[in-house]
Amino acid sequence: MPVIKDAVCSLCGSLCDDITVTVEDNKITKIENACILGHSKFVGMLEHDRIETPMIRKDGELVPVSYEEAIEAAAKILVNSKRTLSYGWCSTSCEAVSKAIQLAEETGSVIDSTANVCHGPTALAAQEKGAPSASLGEIKNRADVIIFWGCNPVHAHPRHMVRYSSFSKGLFTEKGRKGRKMIVIDVRKTDTAKLADNYIEIEQGSDLLLVTALRSIVNGHEDVVPETVAGVPKAKVVELAETLKNAKFVCIFFGMGVTQSRSKYKNGDAMSSLISDLNQHTKAVMIGMRGHYNVTGFGQVATWETGFPMAIDFSRGYPYYNPGETGANDLLVREEPDAAIIAAADAGAHFPQKAVRHLAKIPVIQIDPYPNPTTEIADVVIPAAIVGIEAEGTAYRMDAISLRMKKLIESKFKTDEEIVKDLITKVRELKRGA
Ligand code: SF4
Repeated sequence: MPVIKDAVCSLCGSLCDDITVTVEDNKITKIENACILGHSKFVGMLEHDRIETPMIRKDGELVPVSYEEAIEAAAKILVNSKRTLSYGWCSTSCEAVSKAIQLAEETGSVIDSTANVCHGPTALAAQEKGAPSASLGEIKNRADVIIFWGCNPVHAHPRHMVRYSSFSKGLFTEKGRKGRKMIVIDVRKTDTAKLADNYIEIEQGSDLLLVTALRSIVNGHEDVVPETVAGVPKAKVVELAETLKNAKFVCIFFGMGVTQSRSKYKNGDAMSSLISDLNQHTKAVMIGMRGHYNVTGFGQVATWETGFPMAIDFSRGYPYYNPGETGANDLLVREEPDAAIIAAADAGAHFPQKAVRHLAKIPVIQIDPYPNPTTEIADVVIPAAIVGIEAEGTAYRMDAISLRMKKLIESKFKTDEEIVKDLITKVRELKRGA
């Protein structure tokens, strides 16, 4: 009975790499170390419906076909399209992302990741101001003040605090939780906030005000701060600034509560400046709490290959990038795309109504292991192996550390990488008129 140690959990951006998996008769029968979310990923493939076969929509119904027929139908859609949107690619391997970028270039498409609706503003902020960061190992070993701002790891990244942050014990943080100060800043008292030493409740959309006030105090201009900031009494903001200045090592983990609230990328931009200010007094870093397990990897691969982390438009024959214009939702709301590939993501469930309404009007190719609301509007559905379980590959953790995901069991499904390679070959054949 094979017992596979140090498997990587391919669910959230924590990418826990200490999972032990027991396999019997090509089935996962035991999972050790994973949290409830990770556990559901490993057993989910047994308990949830899969897309069992490639399908093409005929007379309004999806009918089973071979991989070859589905690839051919998808390639025809791409070749006949003048403006394809390729979206998702964050719950798959970097190798598949690389091929997806190649396909986008080959077809003059726009390719965007799920960061479009989560940490995209973080990427913009990092481009403008930088993002002083560290590995999660450094946080574990050194950070004595940890802030969770606009995120709720108890539910979204359940092992994060135990493995890497507040509750972990490291080389210079051997007392674990007792030796660290945990602060939560949020608009409501989340389950993470209930574990904090200091919970600071702010008014909705006021993150930028609080960051700016903290910067003023850290830089010695307390006098310009009003008596209340973001709904928080000045005395409490001063106390927080002093805690940060007097720490040995501060890490601010921030989530979509920061990136998707009012001021968007300016929140991350200002936070980056706060981190720089704090580094005049102590060591401080910031890390985005990335959701999809390889959304960081998409940004890395896209940046190596095109110079840009997301929202890349190849229609000019070279990569062009202007989020707000070339983002997946921007295009769909303007009703520009005349075809779409949605891979390893569920635009049908997560995009605004107007965007989904346009998707429903155009040919959609879906590549995914599981059926989801996007399947309902797809014209070609291509099932894929689950990366990290049925296929190996590379992914980047939220701190941009790359990890190799193992193949744990055999599968009848093609990998995302193989599917996209086949699509590229078929598109080239059709373009040549072969
Ligand atoms: Fe998987 Fe995330 Fe849970 Fe770790 S914290 S086991 S990566 S779901």
